[in-house]
Amino acid sequence: MNKPSPLLLNVRSTTTITPNMQRIQLQGQGLSSFPTHCAGGYIKLMFTPSGSTDLSSLNEGERPVMRTYTIRQFDYNNHTIEVDFVRHITNDLQCGFAGRWAMNAAPNDTISITGPGLIQGLNQEADWFFLVADMTSLPALSAKLADLPADAIGHAVVHINSEKDKQTLNEPLGIQIQWVIEGLSTESLSETVRKTPWLDSQVSVWAACEFDSMRELRQYFRNEKEVAKENIYISSYWKRGVTEEGHKVIKRSDSES
Ligand SMILES: Cc1cc2nc3c(=O)[nH]c(=O)nc-3n(C[C@H](O)[C@H](O)[C@H](O)COP(=O)(O)OP(=O)(O)OC[C@H]3O[C@@H](n4cnc5c(N)ncnc54)[C@H](O)[C@@H]3O)c2cc1C
Repeated sequence: MNKPSPLLLNVRSTTTITPNMQRIQLQGQGLSSFPTHCAGGYIKLMFTPSGSTDLSSLNEGERPVMRTYTIRQFDYNNHTIEVDFVRHITNDLQCGFAGRWAMNAAPNDTISITGPGLIQGLNQEADWFFLVADMTSLPALSAKLADLPADAIGHAVVHINSEKDKQTLNEPLGIQIQWVIEGLSTESLSETVRKTPWLDSQVSVWAACEFDSMRELRQYFRNEKEVAKENIYISSYWKRGVTEEGHKVIKRSDSES
């Protein structure tokens, strides 16, 4: 991630694209410094400790609260980025700032961000691809699928919160998409992944989702399927019941152990 020098962006538009996903288009002259191919990378949204986006109300020495989101699309000419926010309700008013902001944002609202940061890509030299996502990583997955070679083959398994949260993705013809639907599917994300046919040639794995699911997937891909380190990106994007700060701490101690 670049050294934080916040950019102030304006909300251009906000649309509920599926029942649990809010798409917000943000615009600002400062986006002209973003690299052309930053879709799939991430930004940090900045809030005050009480959840306001007005950083001028931060006290001297007080640090903003940061929340990580994916650049789903970048339009360099119009200085806009598109960010898809999972709509989730947090009753505790001391947290859940980003979800709450996204659900209430209106055109001309402003927010400060830093970034972009880039995440590890897929090893494109592989014989086949296996991608796994939930709704928080669906924007990154959509950018990764669009980047795959046209003749790529493999699987993408995506957990969504309801049937109506399915999205049209730009996947190559040879990539089979399976949707795991909360409350409808009889299997969890990792159970579906385990039942998905496995080819014996060299695979490239990309997986991002909730922390507990990530651990189950890591056990499968790394320990059971023995996918080599250079052919796997696996990360948790959030943890149920824990704020982003708490998740970061858990993630650090998990990777150290
Ligand atoms: C690299 C990266 C990219 C990411 N990109 C995106 C993205 O493009 N879109 C996106 O929606 N998220 C994305 N996330 C996840 C997002 O950063 C977290 O969901 C974050 O915790 C949301 O902040 P918040 O202020 O709304 O809630 P927090 O204050 O962090 O948490 C408050 C409560 O809400 C719960 N919570 C947090 N997220 C969810 C959720 N999705 N569903 C249900 N409960 C939740 C927490 O478990 C906690 O109990 C990304 C994370 C990473 C690491």
